[in-house]
Amino acid sequence: MTDRVAAVTAAFEAAYGRLPTGVWSAPGRVNLIGEHTDYNNGYVLPFAINRRTWAAVGMREDRTVRLRSTFADGETTASLDALSPDAMGGWSAYVLGVAWAMADAGIDLGEASGLDILIDSDVPVGAGLSSSAALECAAGVAFTELWTLDLDKIALARIGRVAENKAVGAPTGLLDQAASMLGEEDHAVFLDCDTEAAHPVPLHLKQEGLAILVMNSNVEHEHATGGYGDRFASCANGAKALGVATLREIGADDLTRAEGALDEETYRRVRHVVTENQRVLDTVDTLAAAGPRAIGDLMNASQASMRDDFEITVPEIDLACDAAVLAGAVGARMTGGGFGGSSIALVPAEKAQEIASAVQGALSDAGLREPTIFTVAPSQGARRDR
Ligand code: ADP
Ligand code: MG
Repeated sequence: MTDRVAAVTAAFEAAYGRLPTGVWSAPGRVNLIGEHTDYNNGYVLPFAINRRTWAAVGMREDRTVRLRSTFADGETTASLDALSPDAMGGWSAYVLGVAWAMADAGIDLGEASGLDILIDSDVPVGAGLSSSAALECAAGVAFTELWTLDLDKIALARIGRVAENKAVGAPTGLLDQAASMLGEEDHAVFLDCDTEAAHPVPLHLKQEGLAILVMNSNVEHEHATGGYGDRFASCANGAKALGVATLREIGADDLTRAEGALDEETYRRVRHVVTENQRVLDTVDTLAAAGPRAIGDLMNASQASMRDDFEITVPEIDLACDAAVLAGAVGARMTGGGFGGSSIALVPAEKAQEIASAVQGALSDAGLREPTIFTVAPSQGARRDR
């Protein structure tokens, strides 16, 4: 048992006066490339990170669910007989939403036992590293095992997404949950969001002497109420005007037609999605053919597209990426939904410290809020820990 699993076990015991039946965990994620392509049925290439959310869970004799988190005070109580998105609020909606989404998917929870749940995490919350999916997926694997349900990893990712979309009300795609469920050490997860086919992509970061810096801008984002929904709507409008169900169906060859058919802003939104999809495919090919040192230009082009066409970055992110590249990063780009959150830099491991200092210095010189910078490693997805 790692220290962290022992700590969450002890916290459960302190809260509920008995040992948990088990401890499960799921990681946050970083998206290597492919931003806002998921809900357009396109391609994404995230990886699970070595920051996790743990769920210590104990079975009960009744149908009550009690929830606590080290992230917030107090206890929430709910009944498995009265799960409804309307009746869920606050952070517990991410967990109760998973149970509701399972029932909504046709899974019979009529005999499921109630649960005592204690959540602990070292995924920074609201930093664009998907603490929300980590929470949903940790709950998902725990419920699946405790209630002996027949759900594979991608099915659980889908359930987590439904929880986030319907119980929480954030119109996000499958990216976060797929990464959290399917992650593997030193691999990214390629996901085709149309077919939902996924496969691991070797990154060979260690072998190539590379590391990934996460640069948390410390600018808070808010998916459910922020610009994320506007971009979602822009893409839907663009697809409708172009006569396709989703932007997945158009490619670079269609952009001239799109430019004629769409207003200037919608055109730029569409251009981001179309070119970003291609960059994901090119990144997978480049990784296989030439290794991770060769993907820097694709990362930088993605950052420029998010900044200029999709307009989802903030000055703190733009400057952090520019400063990282200037200081010797292979490539750098915002990761996650945008409007704050984090960016990533692919860096030579021996220069990680120097590049991080250069980024801090650049933000400080510009009078902007300084980021929190740390390295992450591609890690294993959701699992049982105890
Ligand atoms: P992100 O996924 O980028 O971290 P979101 O806004 O999507 O940001 O999700 C953050 C929300 O998820 C928090 O406000 C909280 O409601 C919930 N959450 C995340 N981690 C925890 C945790 N350890 N305990 C309780 N709630 C959590
Ligand atoms: Mg989230």
